[in-house]
Amino acid sequence: ESDQSPSIEMSNITVCARFRPLSSKEKRDHGANICIQNVDSESFIIKDEKDEGFTFSFDKVFYEKSKQVDVYDFLVLPIVRDSVNAINGTIIAYGQTGAGKTYSMEGLNILESDEEKKGILPRVVDGLFACIRSSDESTKYSIKLSMVEIYMEKVRDLFDLSKDNIQIKESKTQGILMSGATEISLLDPSEALQSLSSGIANRAVGETLHQESTIEKRVKFGKLVLVDLAGSEKVEKTGAEGRILEEAKTINKSLSALGNVINALTRGSPAKANHIPYRDSKLTRILQDSLGGSSRTALLCCCSPSPSNVSESLSSLRFGARAK
Ligand code: ADP
Ligand code: MG
Repeated sequence: ESDQSPSIEMSNITVCARFRPLSSKEKRDHGANICIQNVDSESFIIKDEKDEGFTFSFDKVFYEKSKQVDVYDFLVLPIVRDSVNAINGTIIAYGQTGAGKTYSMEGLNILESDEEKKGILPRVVDGLFACIRSSDESTKYSIKLSMVEIYMEKVRDLFDLSKDNIQIKESKTQGILMSGATEISLLDPSEALQSLSSGIANRAVGETLHQESTIEKRVKFGKLVLVDLAGSEKVEKTGAEGRILEEAKTINKSLSALGNVINALTRGSPAKANHIPYRDSKLTRILQDSLGGSSRTALLCCCSPSPSNVSESLSSLRFGARAK
């Protein structure tokens, strides 16, 4: 990397779409039909229920045969490298439940030994340690990991479930802090994976709607936040009632707060930077200093390629398209 190279005007947000393979249920119900027509590696046509075609273009499109490593290399690795140079970054997986967010983030299992199926998280761990190993020896690094889950607008510490209402604070020197959240020092990749795995095991299970966790690493003073969002599906479709309905409404609010922040960042002029509505949700508050400004953001819009999910896929893709 040379400082002499002319600086290229680049957006700090990279948006990609990823289509997982058809599930066996989708195949059973709808045969091998898919609603996506591959145009090239950046655009495709998606046909809705009425057979109307919509063209979308993103920084990159990962089709069904894409590999985990392709997603990592394109979307995540540049951000991992920057985080070692103290540039904050955020990696967000968006999409309806079952669209492939967790598969993309973690792989089948965080401790999965199958190299091919390893998701973003274990690759980030390897990537961080590799960056540190190859850096000049005068710089001393430490990596700290916090894992939280936002549930009903409360931030829970996944390393200490007794801390179920973590407060978010802002410090002049360190930026946004999750006050009192456990920080685990990571010394080597395999220990890091064990820590991640224990945090993952503490996530609320059962209703997939709960899955909204952020994983944070501090490198030098670089912060890297990985977000596996709750499912973006419409509340009506889930047929939710009572507590589940309340959860769904909270999730929708938090997802639209995220959308509003991203839109304000991409549309707004720098003079309006203080009007970014970070305070509208816990999620956007946590992301405040790793989304926007000089930090880098990767948004992966995960979709099913099945005609049966086309309306949810369209809504996820529109969320992604608005973020550009
Ligand atoms: P989400 O987290 O968005 O609810 P998951 O990541 O759990 O969805 O994916 C739903 C199912 O589809 C899982 O069984 C997962 O293993 C599978 N799956 C998702 N994406 C892929 C992919 N790219 N390749 C193979 N299987 C996938
Ligand atoms: Mg999931």
